[in-house]
Order: sequence, then structure tokens, then C-alpha cells
Amino acid sequence: MDLGLRGKTAIICAASRGLGRACALALAEAGVDLVITGRDFGALNAAASDIAAATGVNVRVAPGDITTPEGRAVALALCPEPDILINNAGGPPPGDFRDFTDDAWHAALNANMLTPIALIRAVIDPMITRGFGRIVNITSASVKSPISNIGLSNGARAGLTGFVAGLARDVARHNVTINNLLPGPFDTDRLRATARAAAVRAGRNVEDEIAARAAQNPARRIGRPAEFGAACAFLCSTQAGYIVGQNLLLDGGAFNATM
Ligand code: NAP
Repeated sequence: MDLGLRGKTAIICAASRGLGRACALALAEAGVDLVITGRDFGALNAAASDIAAATGVNVRVAPGDITTPEGRAVALALCPEPDILINNAGGPPPGDFRDFTDDAWHAALNANMLTPIALIRAVIDPMITRGFGRIVNITSASVKSPISNIGLSNGARAGLTGFVAGLARDVARHNVTINNLLPGPFDTDRLRATARAAAVRAGRNVEDEIAARAAQNPARRIGRPAEFGAACAFLCSTQAGYIVGQNLLLDGGAFNATM
């Protein structure tokens, strides 16, 4: 399917690895010119080179921490009026809520709620003027099905979800859509890091830990980042203009519900 995106521009946050990178590659395959962000300059440059070589699109890098005003300014200076914005950042640390300090809460709210909102605010009016815009927020399956030891993530991401639910309806008539992608388990560095910690606690190796998680999933496997990227690219397509304010769970069916 031609997604109708050739020649459009996108900012993809936190895209040197993992799900952000998969979204970047899928959009590049659809002909979108990219600005990708990440803190590690070497990893970011390597991702940009790989994606550009594989797809032939223009990929520029915006090194920096996207959760800071300075990091966002670098990306926005390179691409002040993107057609597409993919919001993403690292997830907050796990822990017992009794141990979460005010600083930890502020950092989580900043990274997973206020940063996406700041970027949306920066880019949405030109999208409205042009009559085309696609915004996708990478959140988490934990928004729909809370995980007890990641309260910072559950809380901050739910705040973003609530905010964009309203805004999405305000801008849909301009062919500007805002949707959220909710990853379940996907095979990324982050998943492997959390699996490694769990494996140590369980006294087994990381591959056995991942296999145990896969065995519990209705699809009997962990998600592939490319599958996540493809879903993201479709949400950004010209065909997806009537998909508004949705929370699309990509979890192999792990959330057990009829609807
Ligand atoms: P990942 O494999 O660890 O990749 C994270 C990417 O984000 C890297 O490119 C990293 O590069 C970049 N990044 C992190 N913090 C950043 C910041 N402050 N500014 C700029 N770039 C930043 O993680 P992932 O698995 O793709 O996860 C992406 C998001 O989905 C996270 O919020 C995660 O919590 C959420 N999620 C993932 C899963 C899963 O199974 N993978 C499940 C549920 C939710 P640098 O470190 O160089 O900055």
C-alpha cells in the first residue's frame, strides 16, 4: 500500500534504537524525510546512516535529551514544521511508590507527559494551517493495564493519554490526527535490560526469561520492532485521517478483553 507520505517530513523522538528507530525506518520506507533524536551521538549517527542507506530518504540528526527545552530546540530548529511527529522517550524507573521522590515524579511527568505536550504545542498550528498532520505518541500497554511496580510510568503516561484525548477531537477537522501506540513486550534493548534484571532475580539466564514471557503471550512470542514501526507508519498515512484519539494496543493479545 502506498501510504501517501512521499516527500513529507517527520520528527521522530528517541529514535537511535528500539521502537523509535523502527518507526523511523518504516516512515523512511514510505518516503518520509526524517529528523531523529537521541542522546548518544554515535548511535544516533549510525542509525541515521543505516536508515538513509536503506531507504534513500534524507535523515538528519538532532542530538540531545528530548526531555529538555534545549534538546527539543535542536530538533525543532532542523524541522520547525514537520508533517509528522512521533513522541517517544525512555520510560521511568520501576520501584515501590513509597520510594518515589518528588524529583522522580517530576522527571517522569516531564519525560512522558509534558515533553510530548510541549512538542505537540510547537508543531500543531502549522499542521492545522496546512490541513495535514499526524502525531503518534509511544506510550505503553501499562496505560490500559497497569503494572504495579511502574507507577511512575502508569501515572505520567495516563496523564498524556487524558490530555490528548481531548485535543485530538479539537484538531481532527483539520486532518490533524493524534493517536497513541501502546507497546506490550517488544524485543528492544529496554526489554532485554528489564528481562536481564528479572532473570537475575529468578536465577535463570536472560534468554530463558524472555522465552518464559513469550510463552505467556497469546501470540507465543515477543513483538518485533518492525511490526511496531509498520503500525506507526499506517497511523501516519494519508489513509488514516479518520483514526482519531485512539489507543492502539500492540501486545499479541496479552490484554484479555472482548473489546
Ligand atoms: P530502548 O530500546 O531503550 O530505546 C530507547 C531509545 O530512546 C534510544 O534510541 C535512546 O537513545 C532514546 N532515548 C531515551 N531517552 C531519551 C531522551 N531523554 N532523549 C532522547 N532520546 C532518548 O527503548 P524502547 O524499548 O524502544 O522503548 C521506547 C519507549 O516505549 C519507552 O518509553 C518504553 O518505556 C516504552 N515501552 C517499551 C516496551 C518494550 O517492550 N520495548 C514496552 C512498553 C513500553 P539514547 O539512550 O542514546 O538517548
